[in-house]
Amino acid sequence: MSTFTPDKFRALYARSADASPALASLALSDGVLHRLWTVCDLLIDNAKRFNLTAILEEEEIVRKHVADSLIPLALLRDAGIDLAGPILDVGTGAGFPLLPWACALPEASLTGLDATAKKISHIRACIDAAGLSNAAAVQGRAEEAAREDFRERFSLVTARAVAALPVLCELCAPLTTVGGAFAALKSRAEEEIRDARPAAEALGLDEPEVLSYELPGGDARTLVIYRKTRPTPAKYPRRYAEIAKQPIA
Ligand code: SAH
Repeated sequence: MSTFTPDKFRALYARSADASPALASLALSDGVLHRLWTVCDLLIDNAKRFNLTAILEEEEIVRKHVADSLIPLALLRDAGIDLAGPILDVGTGAGFPLLPWACALPEASLTGLDATAKKISHIRACIDAAGLSNAAAVQGRAEEAAREDFRERFSLVTARAVAALPVLCELCAPLTTVGGAFAALKSRAEEEIRDARPAAEALGLDEPEVLSYELPGGDARTLVIYRKTRPTPAKYPRRYAEIAKQPIA
């Protein structure tokens, strides 16, 4: 086990919540905070054995993984997005935003999808350790899952740090239900949002709602919320090589 104690986690989380009214507004219980600590502790521990994330210092984990996952969750709630689920986190990696969301939303149903088996087994260990019976982790590629049983099945699809928006829209829109939303967690995004307009239009997504905010410590972030109002045409998503080589323009 790491030397990251629950008390240290609580103190660092309180510091982030003091700097972010949105984070504070979640008013997380002691039980939720303990689950979040469990996830961070196991991340530090497993990252010693294999590559999971570049962010491993305790203060940074709380700010750049936990707060960076939970602040957009509060903003989505305030924007009226349905958080009951089913929710899908595409390219969840070491489980962000999936695991903090699963800690904070005990009533929701959440799934994390990632192409890398090692990351999926780490997430499953976190789910077990923190008792997150509302969450599951699936190994696979988004563009393949969208051709199989995950197509148009999730009322909220999210992704952080996976691809630029023109590519990400094609990976995520086909997984989203009509009437649902795709929410991308980004740093600065104006240019990507512009570049993704033709893709969004072709995939059944409306012009996005764009919310700018700061992480505790000052890093700029953008939450891009696309509402899906029309079915995605059957020809999308294409194979990954095509999506990456020639995003919809
Ligand atoms: N969302 C996490 C991880 C970002 S790293 C975070 O913000 O910390 C990007 C992850 O996306 C990697 O783990 C990679 O395996 C996964 N990924 C990239 N393209 C993918 C695809 N098409 N389908 C599924 N997973 C993908």
